[in-house]
Amino acid sequence: MKVMKFGGTSVGKPERMHQVSQLITKDGEPTIVVLSALSGTTNALVEISKCLANGDREGAKQKINKLEEHYRSFVLDLVKQNATRVKANDLVSEHFEFLNIILRISFSEALNKDILAQGELMSTKLFSVYLEEQDIDHMLLPALEFMTIDANEEPQLGSIKIKLSQLLQQNSQKKLFVTQGYICRNSKGEVDNLKRGGSDYTASLIAAAIKATVCEIWTDIDGMHNNDPRIVEKTIAIKQLSFDEAAELAYFGAKILHPTCIWPAQQENVPVKLLNTMQPEAAGTVITKEAGSVGVKAVAAKDGIIAIKIKSSRMLLAYGFLRKVFEVFEKYHTSIDMITTSEVAVSVTIDTDVSLKQIVKELEPFGSVDVDKDQTIVSIVGNEIAQTDDVLQKLFESIKEIPVTMVSYGGSPHNISLLVPSSYKTKTLQLLNKGLFGL
Ligand code: ADP
Ligand code: ASP
Ligand code: MG
Repeated sequence: MKVMKFGGTSVGKPERMHQVSQLITKDGEPTIVVLSALSGTTNALVEISKCLANGDREGAKQKINKLEEHYRSFVLDLVKQNATRVKANDLVSEHFEFLNIILRISFSEALNKDILAQGELMSTKLFSVYLEEQDIDHMLLPALEFMTIDANEEPQLGSIKIKLSQLLQQNSQKKLFVTQGYICRNSKGEVDNLKRGGSDYTASLIAAAIKATVCEIWTDIDGMHNNDPRIVEKTIAIKQLSFDEAAELAYFGAKILHPTCIWPAQQENVPVKLLNTMQPEAAGTVITKEAGSVGVKAVAAKDGIIAIKIKSSRMLLAYGFLRKVFEVFEKYHTSIDMITTSEVAVSVTIDTDVSLKQIVKELEPFGSVDVDKDQTIVSIVGNEIAQTDDVLQKLFESIKEIPVTMVSYGGSPHNISLLVPSSYKTKTLQLLNKGLFGL
């Protein structure tokens, strides 16, 4: 059995959904299809939620109406028969009635999650109606019946395995299943989600749970590129990556993959393929245990980074200092991405300001604390790059003009990370494209 996940743009137009139906029935292998919401929907739902949180019911109402119009015209082109059009319109009505009811309810975080779930619920149901019209035998698998996260918002792979295999056993005569990406239930049993871009995570979790032959991530580009194609002009697709390399790229900003979506597939050694719905014959990127070749594969950038520097002469020859510093971050559940130390100072980076004030307050007794916001981590990822000839030389030669504020090298054989002010991100990525890839 394999997993095929289609992102927002892959289902964002009726003709794309038609094309997806052909891709999933091509080779006859039993398949679980994971769908995102139609492109733009989750963003619109976030906006609706924001209006409600701010008490702007009129604004929310207008946005709900606009989104409903979009779905009505989508249905017109998606299905052609009268009966299936009625069915599709009925289900759209059901979800927009829900959105209109919440206009009258007082806003809460749980309600916010319910609102955000509407996109994937609608896309999968609409797709199922289309498959029905095409006489393609399949079954809708409700993600809310098997996809769960614990109190720390970590997916519970063990229980996902059990629940999903029960559902599949109960329907063993079916060969094609369609389910929602992104949405799940939390430890309180409420509707929740796996964070933005989370449908990739759903696909990888399902692939691990059923030990799939392959986890295919179908999107709008022909695989992982060597640099961010939204920022740099000439980029090329990478044929092969190891799980570790792909995980580092995803975590450090390559938007094509959800930041933590690699580990489940890696745990069960399920190959992940990144493929292009608009160009299905392109080779794409294959992600497996093996790295393929040695050397630099790609660079990626992660914005919204905050650097914190703690300076203290008491650190000199003292032991236990770093532990005390780390304990502060642990207390506030804030993970550290980069770290560098000298005899009298330690610098770390974090990617959230949620507890910044408290963290700084608790660090101040240790020494002077400087905070630099608006920083970007630029990561150079590859296989055994530390041992690859000339990498460091080429790297620093090419970015001479960039005011690099931190460097992390040697922590992993797959990664060299630089911290630069965010205003220098574009320039850094462009210079590295030339310096490291000759593009
Ligand atoms: P989907 O909706 O299918 O999940 P996403 O928008 O989340 O698609 O991811 C695909 C996009 O990721 C591409 O269109 C591309 O602009 C962006 N992207 C950023 N970095 C990379 C990269 N290194 N390689 C490929 N795509 C990237
Ligand atoms: N629809 C969700 C989002 O836009 C999840 C996903 O597409 O992966 O973030
Ligand atoms: Mg995505």
